[in-house]
Amino acid sequence: MSEPLVPRMQGFGTTIFAEMSALAVETGSINLGQGFPDTDGPPAMLDTAIEAIRSGLNQYPPGPGLPELRQAVADQKRERYGLSYDPAAEVFVTVGATEGIAASVLALTGPGDEVIAFEPTYDSYAATIALAGAVLRPVTLRPDGGRFTFDPDELRAAVGPRTRMILVNSPHNPVGTVFTRDELELIAGLCREHDLVALTDEVYEYLTFDGAEHIPLATLPGMRERTVAVSSVGKTFSVTGWKTGWVTAPAPYIRAVQTVKQFTTFAVGGPWQRATAYALGNELPWVEELRASLQAKRDRLITGLEAAGFTAFRPQGTYFVQTDIGPLGFKDGVELARALPGKAGVVAIPSQVFYQRPDEGARFVRFAFCKKDEVIDEAVERLRRVTG
Ligand code: PMP
Ligand code: GLN
Repeated sequence: MSEPLVPRMQGFGTTIFAEMSALAVETGSINLGQGFPDTDGPPAMLDTAIEAIRSGLNQYPPGPGLPELRQAVADQKRERYGLSYDPAAEVFVTVGATEGIAASVLALTGPGDEVIAFEPTYDSYAATIALAGAVLRPVTLRPDGGRFTFDPDELRAAVGPRTRMILVNSPHNPVGTVFTRDELELIAGLCREHDLVALTDEVYEYLTFDGAEHIPLATLPGMRERTVAVSSVGKTFSVTGWKTGWVTAPAPYIRAVQTVKQFTTFAVGGPWQRATAYALGNELPWVEELRASLQAKRDRLITGLEAAGFTAFRPQGTYFVQTDIGPLGFKDGVELARALPGKAGVVAIPSQVFYQRPDEGARFVRFAFCKKDEVIDEAVERLRRVTG
C-alpha cells in the first residue's frame, strides 16, 4: 500500500514522549523523560471534578468554555499580571495548551507564511506549523554563561517579508530559560516594527526558581493588542492528563481561533473546566508550595547528574534539566537516550529531536525532576553506576 499520510506530515513519526514512555514501561525504567508529576494536584480540586460529574455536568459545555472558567482566567490575568481581558470575548478554553497553540497557528498562518520560534522547539510546534502549510524559521538558543539565550542578530535576521508570527515559550521547555525583560523587549520591538503576531506558550508560568519572574509578553508596550497567549492547567496544578487550556487575546484573534477550534474538538470536558476554575481561584498557595518543592528537586537532580558526569544547566523555570553529555564521552544524545533504559534503567529525552538543525542539539539530553525525591535519588544512583 502506498503511504497514506499526507506529505506535509511525513517525517513526524511517533512523538519522542510516546516512544520514550513506552521504552520506560518495556524496560521497567525510571521515567525522567516525559514531563508528568508522580503526585496528584490539590485534593479539593480533584473533588471538584468528581462532584461536577456527580452533579450532572456531563453534556456539551459551551464551545468557548464554561463562563466560570473564563471568568477565573480573566481574574488570574488581572490579579497576577495587571492584564485586563473580557471573559466573554477575549478568553477561550481549549483542549490543553496543545490545542490552543494548534488552533492559533492554524487560524492565523497559512501556506508560505513564516513562523519564528526559538529552537529547541516544543515538539508540537513544528508539526502544527507544518499542518498549517507554514514554514518554521528557527532561532537557536545556545548556552551563554550557564543559561540558554539567543543571538539578537540571529533573531533580527530571521524576520523577512513572509514572517507572520513569533512563537515564544517562556519559561522554556526544554532549556529552562525564563526570558528577561530585555530579551522580551527585543522580541516585542520586532513584532511592532514588522506587524507580527506573538503567540506565547506560558504553560510553566508559575514554575520559576530563584526569584526569576515570568513576564507575559502581552504586558510590554504595544503588545497586548498583538499577542495571543496560551496556558493550561496541567503543569500548574499537576494534572497533565486533564488537557484543559485557555487562550487570551483581543476579540478578533479569539474569533479566528474559535473558528478553527469549533471544528477540531468543539468543546472541552465540563468537569475539568469547573475544577480548573476552582483551582485558579483557590489553590494558588498550593502552587507556591509546588514551586518551592520543585526548586529543591531541581537542585537534588542537578547534584546527582553532575556526580554522574553530566554537565547540567540550572533551569530558571519548568521542571526539566538540560544536560550536555559531552563530558561522558558521548556525542549523540539520541543514541545515549535509546541506550540508557537498557544500560541504566533510566529514561530521558534526547533534546536533539526539538531542533530543526539536529547538529545544534546533538549533545543535549533532558531529564525531568517533577518526581518524588526517592525516585530522583534512585535514578541518579543508577546513572552513577553506569557512568562511574
Ligand atoms: N507547551 C509546552 C512548552 C509544554 O511543555 C507542554 C507540555 N505538556 C505543552 C505546551 C502542552 O500542554 P497541554 O498538556 O496543556 O496541552
Ligand atoms: N510537555 C511534556 C514534556 O515536555 C510532554 C507532553 C507530551 O507527552 N506530549 O515532556
